[in-house]
Amino acid sequence: MTCQLTFLPVGNADSIVIQTDNSLVVVDLGNLNVLEEWLEKHEISKIDRIYITHAHGDHFPSLIRLANFISTWNSKISIGKIHLPYKVIEIARKKILANTANSKNGSLNLALQRIKEWSDSRAVKLSPIVRDGEEYSEGLIKIEALHPSQFYVENHLAISGSKLNEISIVLQISYGDFSALLLADIEGAGLTDLLRFLQNSSDSTIFKTNIVKIPHHGAYPPNGNELKDLLALVDAEIAILSVGSKNPYGHVEPALFNALIELQNNNTQRLNKFICTEVTRTCIHSKLERSSMGKSGLSTPQKCAGEIVIITNNLGEWQLKTEMTNHSAKIASLSHAACDGRVDIS
Ligand SMILES: [Zn+2]
Ligand SMILES: [Zn+2]
Ligand SMILES: [Zn+2]
Repeated sequence: MTCQLTFLPVGNADSIVIQTDNSLVVVDLGNLNVLEEWLEKHEISKIDRIYITHAHGDHFPSLIRLANFISTWNSKISIGKIHLPYKVIEIARKKILANTANSKNGSLNLALQRIKEWSDSRAVKLSPIVRDGEEYSEGLIKIEALHPSQFYVENHLAISGSKLNEISIVLQISYGDFSALLLADIEGAGLTDLLRFLQNSSDSTIFKTNIVKIPHHGAYPPNGNELKDLLALVDAEIAILSVGSKNPYGHVEPALFNALIELQNNNTQRLNKFICTEVTRTCIHSKLERSSMGKSGLSTPQKCAGEIVIITNNLGEWQLKTEMTNHSAKIASLSHAACDGRVDIS
């Protein structure tokens, strides 16, 4: 019996498949083409759950594309439940009402209608998810949300509707003694809230994790110290970065690798490896070169590890497989390979 986590190479986006002998869960739909190819290649017959962590396009296809996805795949495989981003249906409904002249209204209306029909017929069930809400459990696997709480998400949307990363759903995956923490795009006040929750828990060691997915594709938030505290608290053995070579945000930010290297050099921490799906400018360019690039990325995508697969047993003994069989040679060929701790920060 094993559990497998696959971080699909979707560029500056997320799409993660969690598989056991009898269940399959997808976290985020950052690039539907890559996911669809994967589903076909592995002859998947059912998806038990889809979690969409928040409503940004690199995690959530539009409602129109989601409706098309359900309609294509629900005829081939069974789809159980989809946890949509908070209030995404209500927000779409309001948009339609506010822009009656918008030409996209017709297709959005149709998508909403189709989604409602699936939901009514229970072919696909839809529901939002919050901390202390519904958890997924099937055999040894258990998935629960650590963020946001119902109170946080309602209070947050009321005062600051645009900062969607802060209400990203953060998931803890457990499989026997193995645990993974998927931090979606958590940052800012949401990161603070998550950290407080973990710190205030009567036993924060239950949040120790084998694997951590670094939030927000290698951004380094203004409250980076809280990110460091969070990473130290969860004490992962490996940090996984889902990043895109061409991203125009200057990711992966060197400060993030600094934080990881600090943890790696700390003898009380278990972190001994970080790994990225794609090569970013930080791996190729010196500090001086980067300073003239603004925030722009590389002109062509390059895989670093490519698809990243973690296979674990229920004792927390896991192994890593990368799509790029020459991953070590690739890292060696890069002048400033970030995942090898060689970023130029001079
Ligand atoms: Zn986001
Ligand atoms: Zn994102
Ligand atoms: Zn790398």
